[in-house]
Amino acid sequence: EEEIGHTRIRKLDDAVINKIAAGEIIIQPANALKEMLENSIDAHATMIEILVKEGGIKLLQITDNGRGINKLDLGLLCERFATSKISKFEDLESVATYGFRGEALASISHIARLSVVTKTADSQLAYKAFYLNGKLTGPNFKDSGVQAEPKPIAGKDGTQILVEDLFYNIPSRIKALRNKSDEFAKILDVIGRYAIHTGHVGFSCKRFGEPVYVLSTRPNLPVKERIRTVYGSVVANELLDIAIDGATSKTKEEVNVKESLGLVSVSGVITNANYNNKKKIQPIFFINHRLVSCDPLKRAVNAVFQFFLPKGNHPFMYLALEIDPKNLDVNIHPTKREVRFLNEDEIIELIVDKVHLILSNVDTSRKFKTQS
Ligand code: ADP
Ligand code: MG
Repeated sequence: EEEIGHTRIRKLDDAVINKIAAGEIIIQPANALKEMLENSIDAHATMIEILVKEGGIKLLQITDNGRGINKLDLGLLCERFATSKISKFEDLESVATYGFRGEALASISHIARLSVVTKTADSQLAYKAFYLNGKLTGPNFKDSGVQAEPKPIAGKDGTQILVEDLFYNIPSRIKALRNKSDEFAKILDVIGRYAIHTGHVGFSCKRFGEPVYVLSTRPNLPVKERIRTVYGSVVANELLDIAIDGATSKTKEEVNVKESLGLVSVSGVITNANYNNKKKIQPIFFINHRLVSCDPLKRAVNAVFQFFLPKGNHPFMYLALEIDPKNLDVNIHPTKREVRFLNEDEIIELIVDKVHLILSNVDTSRKFKTQS
């Protein structure tokens, strides 16, 4: 009948499929920014500048001094599953770079206007290219019907990617993101986290049309100075180092345990028991250089701090884990925010014990100032 006629299965057309997929990967401007930061870091940039207008919805521009993109690759740049980072499935097991699925720029080009200016060191000229829906398009996004070509222009080594009018074709998403300053805060948060972890890169961020930097870090500063720049002295003055690695493991057993768990190292900083802050800064976790959230780890470490901090106070922590890549599954979700790794419970326990040890050492050396 009528009803049945309406429920026949039909295949969605590609444009719809691509838009849906893109909207799942890029939920807010900060997601697009994270992908582009990772691309710049993968391209060996040492300086990354970010420009933001209206919370990144109107404009998000990332400029790096990395290796640039070969002119011959520009046709594929925004094609889905086009990547320079892996070529076979097995590569996923050992991938050391941030991206690996060739989906980020493709996704962005399906839900925004994306343009690129890029120059490699061995090229005389830079090239500018415009993309819509995964494909090169004519200057200023006008489709002239003929095969679009990147345009030679003058420029510096590196890559500048400009994303304009994000979600222009998903009106419901724009409505959901109407608080521009929230979106800007999320962008700043991602930049700050990468600035803390990626010490060999300098990051800076400005609002469009404003001369002052909202955030600016120099490359090659010690981690505590990077934290000072991002979160201020209130945090930076109260930090304790944490490290689990071959050099600090005292006994052979410790080294063996670690190795059998597939844990290469843990490094980072945590605030001490003097740090009292009612403001919650979400823990910063990097696993194999990817910014991730790891709720089990967060819960376990927070529980240790309960013993040392007055009620209602929150610690700050930055932990960078290196895990044997073959034990790591980064492929469980397109956004790559969640990771799974083998021996999760045991590794978390190892970290928790270490945090406990560090905090109690400080606590006993302070003698008179005990916890309330
Ligand atoms: P992935 O990072 O997974 O490969 P992306 O869509 O993020 O996929 O990027 C596609 C490709 O574009 C990358 O593999 C890389 O070769 C190139 N690329 C993207 N951004 C940059 C950049 N800032 N500098 C140099 N190359 C880049
Ligand atoms: Mg990428």
